[in-house]
Amino acid sequence: MLEARGIESFYGPSQALFGVDLSVAEGAMVALLGRNGMGKTTTIRTICGLMPARGGSLSFLGKDIRGLPAFRVAQLGVGLVPEGRRCFPNLTVGENLLATARGAGWDMKAVAALFPKLEERRDQSARTLSGGEQQMLAIGRALMTNPRLLILDEATEGLAPVVRQEIWAAIAAVRQRGQSILIVDKNLKDLLPLADACVILEKGHTVWQGRPDDLAADAVLQDRYLGV
Ligand code: ATP
Repeated sequence: MLEARGIESFYGPSQALFGVDLSVAEGAMVALLGRNGMGKTTTIRTICGLMPARGGSLSFLGKDIRGLPAFRVAQLGVGLVPEGRRCFPNLTVGENLLATARGAGWDMKAVAALFPKLEERRDQSARTLSGGEQQMLAIGRALMTNPRLLILDEATEGLAPVVRQEIWAAIAAVRQRGQSILIVDKNLKDLLPLADACVILEKGHTVWQGRPDDLAADAVLQDRYLGV
């Protein structure tokens, strides 16, 4: 579904990605891992067309998406839950969800069933939500686009343990519906059991790709690239 090969990206003159390879198969959940500053967010931004890939190839559903603007990539079916959530603060919860509604499958009712708290807060402005509720809204908003591929950058960062568990349960439920997912999160304990494949980045390169079981069983690998 998604194929990135040798992706190179820059912030001005400063190169951040030097050769990122990753692929997501239809219906799979892929974990993108690496310590802070290794290029996970930059990879996601590049896939989504929020910054250009200066080198490498990038295809989605067989289409070359390198160089496409972000709105085109979104229209092709990539839904992003960005780091920091970025809900529309002046809109209500319901308006945030309606703003991106497209296609069939995920609608207000389905999102309300996934996150009952959002239904309770439907008429509240997004700025009044807690961090966890904002993350639910960001996930709900991405699902409302009925994406072929859902991308989550730092799915549970900064959330209280109990809220984190709610988010993981929702991600597991979304996953069960066959949703293809690319996800960044630091919490391996919750992430690895859900994932089908892992990609590790180190200094803007893909340095390891493999099965979650193999990573979970390899303390040396975890120590070397993830600092666990
Ligand atoms: P984190 O887990 O901390 O979010 P990350 O793996 O997502 O880390 P990136 O945010 O993609 O890493 O950063 C990759 C590299 O790009 C780092 O060296 C970082 O300093 C650099 N970088 C990120 N954003 C910018 C920016 N706006 N301008 C210049 N350099 C940047």
